[in-house]
Amino acid sequence: MRVKKERIEKDLKDLARHSADTGGKGITRLPFTPEDEACRKEIIEKFEEAGLKVYTDGIGNIFGRREGANPELPPVMIGSHLDTVINAGIFDGPAGVVAGLEVCRTLNDLSIKTERSIEVANFVIEESTAFGKSCIGSRAIAGVLDYDELAELKDKSGRSLQDAFKEHGVTKKEIEDTRREKGSIDSYIELHIEQSDNLIKAEKPVGIVTAIAAATRFKVTITGQASHSGATPMDERKDALCAAAEIILGIENIAAEEAGKDTVGTVGNVVVKPGAINVVPGEAELAVDLRDINKQDKNRATEKIIGLIDNVGQKRNVRAEYVITASDTPVPASTRVLDTIKEAADTIAIPHLVMHSAAAHDAAYIAEVADMGMIFIRSYGGSHNPDEWAEFEDVAAAVEVLLEAAINLSSAK
Ligand SMILES: [Zn+2]
Repeated sequence: MRVKKERIEKDLKDLARHSADTGGKGITRLPFTPEDEACRKEIIEKFEEAGLKVYTDGIGNIFGRREGANPELPPVMIGSHLDTVINAGIFDGPAGVVAGLEVCRTLNDLSIKTERSIEVANFVIEESTAFGKSCIGSRAIAGVLDYDELAELKDKSGRSLQDAFKEHGVTKKEIEDTRREKGSIDSYIELHIEQSDNLIKAEKPVGIVTAIAAATRFKVTITGQASHSGATPMDERKDALCAAAEIILGIENIAAEEAGKDTVGTVGNVVVKPGAINVVPGEAELAVDLRDINKQDKNRATEKIIGLIDNVGQKRNVRAEYVITASDTPVPASTRVLDTIKEAADTIAIPHLVMHSAAAHDAAYIAEVADMGMIFIRSYGGSHNPDEWAEFEDVAAAVEVLLEAAINLSSAK
């Protein structure tokens, strides 16, 4: 291997030191905190040590640039995020940034001058933990971040994301300036730990991503009639929770049996009112999350869920209403980048699984302006929890594939 496992391991452990106090339960690094600032500072130092030219854009995304022989050409970009959820592992996010850095250092070691420049990116606020919306930095690059909406996104203390940005000198203009033209980045590869166990099951260290799934989200409100649990006969009830239960199981069935092979549907939250043991529930609110990598399958499942909500409402004589709170489009990887990554893995004989990403990533937004691909690393314990773990051998294997792909992409004129 040309990449150095020890350097990657050191970087990840260095960055993991920047954390709020978690009482030993993983790391927590939310945006705009001192630990986030310190982590940003450290990655800049590491970029500079590797000889990269560092710059930040309007919203605060950080880039380290290794100049190519032809700096006029759109660069090859490698990136991810340094912010984390609460009680996170050390890989989700930082692995992708460190991977880009290691690619540049290895190119230095090998004295390879690429034709195109290579830029390593850290996108701000990828996790929705603090403000309830994900991929803020990459959305701004894609030009799909609505400035007015930032006033509605609030953290636990009630501070809006718009105000938090203002305190850091980021206003509407800076966010608009962050937008990049389509094609201004040649290609983008994100390396990330896998967030489920497909690679463990396949006994492969590396995954190559064909598409990123997207979600449609519903808020469903069912209004029946709250009444005495003892005095209301069964045939006179308008039980909102029973209607909700039918909808929940119906959604499970639609996702499992009636939609596409990759469709997944989840009701992750139920609020029941008044919520007392002796009262027939008068109201129930459901949070529905539907995901797919196939747009047609997701649309079909959405139609079926809407039909189900209407049917159950009529049959049970309750008011069943819904709002669609998000409807994103699944994003396929670019064929050119996907083929380059597959070829790279074959050339250097790294066992890999071709798969899709069930979770969202910055890559889905950077795909608006660049040809996109992703590489996954086998991860134990999932992610977004302190048990998240990847073997450094696996991380290095994935970075080696990334290196090979980056050399190919950046040598094209
Ligand atoms: Zn992540």
